[in-house]
Amino acid sequence: MQFVIFSSLSLLTIVIVFFFGQSLENSYNEKALDLKVTTVENQCTMIANQIVSVNFLINDTTNSVSTQIDQLAVSLGGRIVVINKNYRILKDTYTGYQGKYFMSRDILRIMKGSKDKIITYPDGYMELMLPIVYENSRSEEVQGVIIATISMDELLATKNEIRMQRMLLSVAFIIIGVTLAAFISIFLTRDFKKVNKSLKYIAMGHEDELIEEVGYTELKELVKMFNSILSKMQKLEDSRQEFVSNVSHELKTPMTSMKVLADSLLAQEGMPEEAYREFLTDIVAEIDRENDIITDLLSLVKMDKKAAKLDIKATSVNELLEVILKRLKPLAQKRNIEIIFESFRPVTAEIDQVKLSLAFNNLIENAIKYNKDDGWIRVSLNADHKYFYVKVSDSGVGIPEDCQDQVFERFYRVDKARSRKTGGTGLGLAITRNAVLVHKGAIKLYSVEGEGTTFTVRIPLSYHA
Ligand code: ADP
Repeated sequence: MQFVIFSSLSLLTIVIVFFFGQSLENSYNEKALDLKVTTVENQCTMIANQIVSVNFLINDTTNSVSTQIDQLAVSLGGRIVVINKNYRILKDTYTGYQGKYFMSRDILRIMKGSKDKIITYPDGYMELMLPIVYENSRSEEVQGVIIATISMDELLATKNEIRMQRMLLSVAFIIIGVTLAAFISIFLTRDFKKVNKSLKYIAMGHEDELIEEVGYTELKELVKMFNSILSKMQKLEDSRQEFVSNVSHELKTPMTSMKVLADSLLAQEGMPEEAYREFLTDIVAEIDRENDIITDLLSLVKMDKKAAKLDIKATSVNELLEVILKRLKPLAQKRNIEIIFESFRPVTAEIDQVKLSLAFNNLIENAIKYNKDDGWIRVSLNADHKYFYVKVSDSGVGIPEDCQDQVFERFYRVDKARSRKTGGTGLGLAITRNAVLVHKGAIKLYSVEGEGTTFTVRIPLSYHA
């Protein structure tokens, strides 16, 4: 980038200096030539008027005009020739052609009455021809021609000098421009280099670092965006680490219990059989719990938003819920909890049956687990043209407001002791939420502590990948 900025700015300077200098030089040269032509023309016009006034063309012995012509030729550094109507040279300041005859196409044109001046540039010279016009009251008559031939050497010398000066100035400007381009390119890329250095450092494994906010607005915005991505990544990494430590802890707890139980059996000899049975029953319960946690963890991994492979089939949601309720009814009956199922219409949706079954199962099982004895559960199903809605309400213990956001997090439990007693792993709602999200649905919860909880789930009727 530094090189691109430097080379484009340098190129721009060179182009501007070249074209600007060239056009300035051209216009100066044109002006200088114009000035020369005007001067010569004015002087010659003056002489032509003199010639007319003293009748030089008719009476060529008038010396005062002749001297004036000589002086003019000297002052212009050139040659002046005066020709009369008969093409005879009346005056030639350079050679002794006086009295001879001279004619050319241009002279003929002027003699025939063209009043315009004629300028030609035979190599290295400028030749100006002007008519000598006699005016009387009736007409104007061309009586002769005055020709001034002036060397262009002086003009050429000036031209060369100007070119030299232009060259020197151009070189000076280009040096200044290129130096400036170098400074600007270094200045503009300095912050980029800083950011680049920070990024390299982060890429080397220091993901917990942020980039220093440097530079001008655009770069600053970019750095801000990058920092926010880094922060998100850091949060993700933190939650991953927390998850791993939670998993280890949760898996270790039943192991520790089992070890304690087995150790105490080994420590005492001659224990009665009932004691063995009791301890082993406890060990089996811990094994079951370990198994539950592993099963839930596997479900959670399978339900991962990105990795989930869905087996989408048109399914009757009414039937799906009925099967779940039938399976869970005995659990509810044990505590005399009434389950009411309200289905407003038959609903068929494109869903992954296994994953959503697990989700609804968790919600209804929780409604039983965290209910009061003799309580009730209401499960309702409704749909519109786009979504179906499942609502699970219970008359249970409720979820305190400050915990409502966290209950969907992995291993989060409001009351650890209660959850453990009921066989909870703290993964149920995380699995449910993931299952709903992979179906591009939404889940919400409303709860008042001590009164009950309602979970509402909204899932699109047709699945679009
Ligand atoms: P668990 O396996 O502990 O039930 P979940 O992820 O299913 O884990 O639920 C997380 C926590 O949310 C539970 O421990 C419980 O404290 C709370 N919870 C879930 N559902 C309900 C409910 N219907 N009523 C009250 N609390 C609930």
